[in-house]
Amino acid sequence: MKVLVVGGAGYIGSHMVKMLLNANHQVITLDNLSSGHRDAVIGGVFVEGDLADNDCLYRVFEEHKPDAVMHFASFIQVGESVRKPDIYYRNNVTNTLNLLDIMLKFNVKKFIFSSTAAVFGEPDYVPIDEAHPNRPLNPYGRSKLMIEHVLADYAKAFDLRSVCLRYFNAAGADPEGQLGERHDPETHLIPLILQAASGRRENIQVFGRDYDTPDGTCIRDYIHIVDLCSAHLAALDYLVNGGESDRFNLGNGSGFSVQEVLDAVQKVSGKQVKVIDGPRRDGDPARLVADAKRARSVLNWKPVFTDLETIVKHAWQWEIKCLDRASKVSA
Ligand code: UDP
Repeated sequence: MKVLVVGGAGYIGSHMVKMLLNANHQVITLDNLSSGHRDAVIGGVFVEGDLADNDCLYRVFEEHKPDAVMHFASFIQVGESVRKPDIYYRNNVTNTLNLLDIMLKFNVKKFIFSSTAAVFGEPDYVPIDEAHPNRPLNPYGRSKLMIEHVLADYAKAFDLRSVCLRYFNAAGADPEGQLGERHDPETHLIPLILQAASGRRENIQVFGRDYDTPDGTCIRDYIHIVDLCSAHLAALDYLVNGGESDRFNLGNGSGFSVQEVLDAVQKVSGKQVKVIDGPRRDGDPARLVADAKRARSVLNWKPVFTDLETIVKHAWQWEIKCLDRASKVSA
């Protein structure tokens, strides 16, 4: 199939491009490189362009005639979304509507959307299944939920079939060491601890040790990037085989605390990390764990890298590579 990957130069998108190419799909990546990296797109066609640019979108669809679209291009920082809701709604909502418009114009009716666990807000229960109420706590989560609603309406009105995948904590890196996480600024726990272990950062701050969890630190569901991408491939098959529009939670199903992640990094890297105990971060629930049974049963998805040490090992391999690269540049 010809798959248009929007945001294919980013962390998740670039791993997706690699997986699609390995599965013998034809891939067109569209990315404005606002946070992605051109060298992360390892094959297929690359187009530098923005979803706000309708002429560019028109040209991409006219020239490449994709059969399906995967959409990874969005702003993802919760705190920033509170300070700058305008750019979050414009990028995550308006620009996605542009993309859907052009899809309808070209009769492309299979869409896979990067959604988020942030659509749930403070959980009533964990693990969180798809029936859990949606009460997002910030503009980021609301922007994603808005598109989920749009997609449900477009399915009814226009027969545009979609799968929304609610990511819990995407983590890890390409097991072959070719790709990994390169956010700037980095805000995610695992890369931050790895940078503290490698010496690229002085320390790591633990945001709160007074949560109602066994060790007092927050519990999150870290899902390996390869497993996350394989769910998209499964979702594509599902749509190709006539599956109805639906949404699925994607996680490991087992939660790990901040302290457990710290322990795993120190074990895998063999390095001692300097830890500073800080206050709680606003809006952090104690526990966020996915119930991903529906993705397993309906999409026939089978995650393989479910163990925390493997996730950390692959991310550490990537951190070492980044460190080598940085030292070569400064040499
Ligand atoms: N966290 C932390 N120190 C950091 C960054 C994150 O203690 O420097 C904690 C954060 O409070 C949360 C967990 O690590 O409980 C995962 O945070 P991250 O930002 O990676 O993902 P989120 O769960 O917010 O999507």
